[in-house]
Amino acid sequence: MARAVLSQADISRALTRISHEILESNRGSSDLVILGIPTRGVILARRIAETIARIEPDAAPPPAGALDVTMYRDDLTRTRTRTPQPTELPAGGIDGKTVVLVDDVLFSGRTIRAAFDALNDLGRARAVRLAVLVDRGHREFPIRADFVGKNLPSSTRERINVRLAEIDGDDAVAIDDT
Ligand code: 5GP
Ligand code: MG
Repeated sequence: MARAVLSQADISRALTRISHEILESNRGSSDLVILGIPTRGVILARRIAETIARIEPDAAPPPAGALDVTMYRDDLTRTRTRTPQPTELPAGGIDGKTVVLVDDVLFSGRTIRAAFDALNDLGRARAVRLAVLVDRGHREFPIRADFVGKNLPSSTRERINVRLAEIDGDDAVAIDDT
């Protein structure tokens, strides 16, 4: 059984709002680096960077990239074999920059904890922020998102199904009861 929670228009509005919130908290788009966590976080990071560029047409568009955290996970051996995805660090790196990590769903927080280790190997960011499309709760680490598309308190039996046009053909978020 699937329950629709976000339409394409809802996702678009949420990403536009998050883009404005990032600009407001950063006081503009300077020294921002938007890094998505594969797979769907990378798509969302790209969309947010494009939206920021549209909102601030006179500023340099913020660079977007991908941060793979596969090899930094603390649960590597407990999970199915994971294939590392490439990390794509924009030219200029992260030193002195405000890095905005982007992921589709925030759950236990272990992925983001691993992202801190991955970032640490890339340089020293001035600040690290977190943007997620969906916060489904059930944190196992003291991690919270700075920018949230939608809070969706979920049961652990449920799974949030995030579809993005670039990969899945359309944009939608639904809750699947497994
Ligand atoms: P965490 O590491 O916080 O437990 O889980 C977050 C990571 O696992 C994210 O990269 C996210 O893509 C994925 N994830 C965890 N729960 C869900 C879910 O219910 N739906 C989707 N689509 N991804 C999830
Ligand atoms: Mg993921």
